[in-house]
Amino acid sequence: MNSISFIRNLFLLSLVVSLLTVFLGANPAQAAEKDCGKELNQEYKAFLKKLRAQNFKTGAASGSGKAAKAMTKWLQKVHKEVVAHENAHKKASGKWGGTIKYKNYTWWNIPYAVAGCHIPKHGRPLEVSLKAALAPKEPSKWDLENAKKIRALLKKKKK
Ligand SMILES: [Zn+2]
Repeated sequence: MNSISFIRNLFLLSLVVSLLTVFLGANPAQAAEKDCGKELNQEYKAFLKKLRAQNFKTGAASGSGKAAKAMTKWLQKVHKEVVAHENAHKKASGKWGGTIKYKNYTWWNIPYAVAGCHIPKHGRPLEVSLKAALAPKEPSKWDLENAKKIRALLKKKKK
């Protein structure tokens, strides 16, 4: 294989990959499932940022008992909020409620859920998806983006 045909093959391959991405991304329900890993990672990163601020505030890194207690209390609060958030998505999905994936942060050997993602069962109607996206007390950036996409699809369907 000469270098020109190699470059041409590389070009064709990248074309196929990008077309595939567009095709797979066309179904919003599939896109939501596909993005779970990305969502978890970004939420986890946002958590680490908050953790650093919290560390600074409480001085937990100094190792004092009081500071460590404050950190534990904060992590318990985060865990509770994350679980409640994902359960709200699941509950609002009704019979389409699926599985919840969590990303944990371990502090003194205890894992705390600090990021979550609900994967509904297949076939959830758009109306239910919209309700589920906005079900948590504080919908995330992802939830709001998702709701916007669903609203646009519902509008298209009604026309
Ligand atoms: Zn959410």
